[in-house]
Amino acid sequence: MALLNENYLKLKAGYLFPEIRRRTEAFVDSHPQAAIIKMGIGDVVRGIPRPVADAMKAACEELAHDESFHGYPPEQGYDFLVEAIVEHEFGSRGVTISPDEVFLSDGAKCDSANIQEIFSVDQVVALTDPVYPVYCDSNVMAGRTGEADDAGRYGGLVYLPCTAQNGFSPPLPEGHVDLIYLCSPNNPTGAVMSRQDLGRWVEYARSEGAVIIFDAAYEAYISDTGIPHSIYEIDGARDVAIEMRSYSKTAGFTGVRCAYTVVPKELMVGTQVGDEVALHGIWSRRQATKYNGVSYPVQRGAAACYTPEGSRAVRELVDFYMSNATLMKSELTAAGYTVHGGDNAPYLWIVCPPGQDSWGFFDVLLQQAHIVSTPGAGFGSAGEGYVRLSAFQQRDSVAEALKRIREL
Ligand SMILES: *Cc1c(COP(=O)(O)O)cnc(C)c1O
Repeated sequence: MALLNENYLKLKAGYLFPEIRRRTEAFVDSHPQAAIIKMGIGDVVRGIPRPVADAMKAACEELAHDESFHGYPPEQGYDFLVEAIVEHEFGSRGVTISPDEVFLSDGAKCDSANIQEIFSVDQVVALTDPVYPVYCDSNVMAGRTGEADDAGRYGGLVYLPCTAQNGFSPPLPEGHVDLIYLCSPNNPTGAVMSRQDLGRWVEYARSEGAVIIFDAAYEAYISDTGIPHSIYEIDGARDVAIEMRSYSKTAGFTGVRCAYTVVPKELMVGTQVGDEVALHGIWSRRQATKYNGVSYPVQRGAAACYTPEGSRAVRELVDFYMSNATLMKSELTAAGYTVHGGDNAPYLWIVCPPGQDSWGFFDVLLQQAHIVSTPGAGFGSAGEGYVRLSAFQQRDSVAEALKRIREL
């Protein structure tokens, strides 16, 4: 009999979203009339911007003709897209990225899960608590952890608690770590890291020889002008940081799939015998072996996000979700809740009312307001005492949800 990679058995059986579904289905079964409003899972709800959809349509038509057919795309992405990314996402902020440092992919989820493969299995990994579960589980699968304890914390991982006391900004670890996952704007807390916060981390990574994996999937949601959109806005970050971006939450691409990872050529890692190797070439090799690129119509759609009409439409979409977040934050605060996040991110991190824990408040919202939230404890033990509400909803649903919460 073939043997299993038993690291998979260490995973806590994907309990968060299945448990949310189970409780929601049980409630709907017993209350079939209830009009449920889903503010739990971080999926978008509005259509893809028209100029972007039109670009994809035109590209599909090109594929139907021998003269304009496209087969396998170039490994890292078509020039028309990577050059637009370099100019509009980075150049416009004074950050120089070379087009061949951009690796297109079908998602920041896959990239953030896959990136650990190119590091030694004995590396010490630091994660925030609460955390986007992908960073954690991908390292568990790879064998970089021990078993989980009763609080759900894996042996061998270094947890960085993000709490109201530290403004949900990850504290530096006490000792040495090799890999650090940071996410700003943050899912789930909605917090952002300031220039000073990021500067401290870049300095730590440089002095410890560590690598930062920076997830900027929500950078378009930043409205405060002082907040960095890219870790490369920090001096010295090119030597120590990989950055991930995605079209999922900006252009409604959660179903279409397109993202990219930046690996600067200066970023070096060591070997057992003390040599230095550039990660850029290793990631390139990994992608070329295991991945065949983003489809032509999808790359045309992504590129259309940078035309004048496209960028206006994407901006409108992001602004729409952020106006939900603003409305939610002000009304919930007025109703007496303590609400974090929601200013530079489409997530609100709400303190549970006294006497209720994460799942307790989840149940109250579900059973009394017919709203599906996400219990904070599902993202890590420091998330206990919070629920996450997402601003990815239609306006009338947001208004209705707020009315029901006010009436609780
Ligand atoms: C939604 C999200 C992503 C984007 O993932 P895709 O695979 O590109 O859809 C990445 N990171 C975080 C933290 C997210 O919430």
